[in-house]
Amino acid sequence: MLIRDVSVLQSGQILKDRDILIQDNKIVEIGRDLKVEDKSEIIDGRGKLAAPGLINCHTHAAMTLLRGYADDMELKPWLENKIWPLEAKLNEEDISWGVKLACLEQIHFGITCFNDMYLFPDAVAEATKEMGMRAFISGVVFDMRPEFLTGVEPFVRRWKGDELIIPAVGPHSAYACSEETLLKEKEIADRHNAMIHIHLSETREEVDGFLLSKGRSPVEYLDTLGMLSERLAAVHCVWLSENDCRLLAERKANVVDCTVSNLKLTSGIAPLNTLLKWGVNICLGTDGASSNNNLSLFEEMKVTAIVQKNAYHTPAAFSAEQIWRLATDNAYRTFGLDMGLKAGALADLMLIDLRKPWLCPETNIISHLVYSMTGGVDTTIINGRVLMREGIIPGEEKIMAGAQKRFEDLVQRR
Ligand SMILES: [Zn+2]
Repeated sequence: MLIRDVSVLQSGQILKDRDILIQDNKIVEIGRDLKVEDKSEIIDGRGKLAAPGLINCHTHAAMTLLRGYADDMELKPWLENKIWPLEAKLNEEDISWGVKLACLEQIHFGITCFNDMYLFPDAVAEATKEMGMRAFISGVVFDMRPEFLTGVEPFVRRWKGDELIIPAVGPHSAYACSEETLLKEKEIADRHNAMIHIHLSETREEVDGFLLSKGRSPVEYLDTLGMLSERLAAVHCVWLSENDCRLLAERKANVVDCTVSNLKLTSGIAPLNTLLKWGVNICLGTDGASSNNNLSLFEEMKVTAIVQKNAYHTPAAFSAEQIWRLATDNAYRTFGLDMGLKAGALADLMLIDLRKPWLCPETNIISHLVYSMTGGVDTTIINGRVLMREGIIPGEEKIMAGAQKRFEDLVQRR
């Protein structure tokens, strides 16, 4: 496949009128006037910007089915009276439709890979693969459902080595899992060299509870279990002490910030500047669609930048370039993916139509991507396959109709 005459975003710079040659699932070459065989697929890149795919570093994809079902409530009654009762009725078929809907949405937003934690991980993996997306998938584990832990290692074995699905281990949180459960999860992750995906220090109550019961913060507690490592994606990290930041940095753990979800649930604002000062690798996630309520990393980037500027009382904090790095390079580092627009990298990328009013005039493109982007992803390519072309994903209407039906069925189900 050849993308012809496109502007290429490479390490923050724009290279104009270049061709991108893709073979199988890799970018082979970026240059001028590249030659291909006659029968190769050619994509006209004129007026478009090629940017590397984004990674949604934390989500619960199937929760798209619960989008807008319950909003504007306190966290506890929201979970206990609304979300959990509905989740208790979910079956594999629901999950499959919810995940497909999430894939549609993410493909529209230029996301090529996501990091998921939820129920029925096999259904999540199958639906994701069918949609052609790349994902790190873990089945959620908490002590209220001990059978979930039993399923973890078989799930990891089933999907290990798949081209698009990378199995991971997902203890829900330090407060929902016993020490024994956490250690078992760690053992499985170590055995299979898998990522650990966990919610950590999301609310002040969570941290206060740990300080009271264990005399340690949740971060310090996980460290005593040996769980902080470069294979950890620690999600939220809103309530951190200076010592927590130091530990996360020294153990090379990755922090996934979900600003929109944290703001919507009034959990607080993560101390990103302090984490950066310590050299922690930070990336971005949307969280599930029931607490965001979309899966747009463009929106996440903008809100994160603006909120952090306010938290540190200076518009100079968190430049557009810095925020763009969180959504791209830092995310690639977290998941060990060779991405970016360069020869040898995975062919996971998007083409953005620059002929949109909100992207005009053409000045600082990174600023546009972070602060002005409200649409315009034209083409999304994952693993060398075009999944969306000129804004159209084949089969989209059928998936939306299916998801609608599952939702209606779910709320009436007993
Ligand atoms: Zn979450």
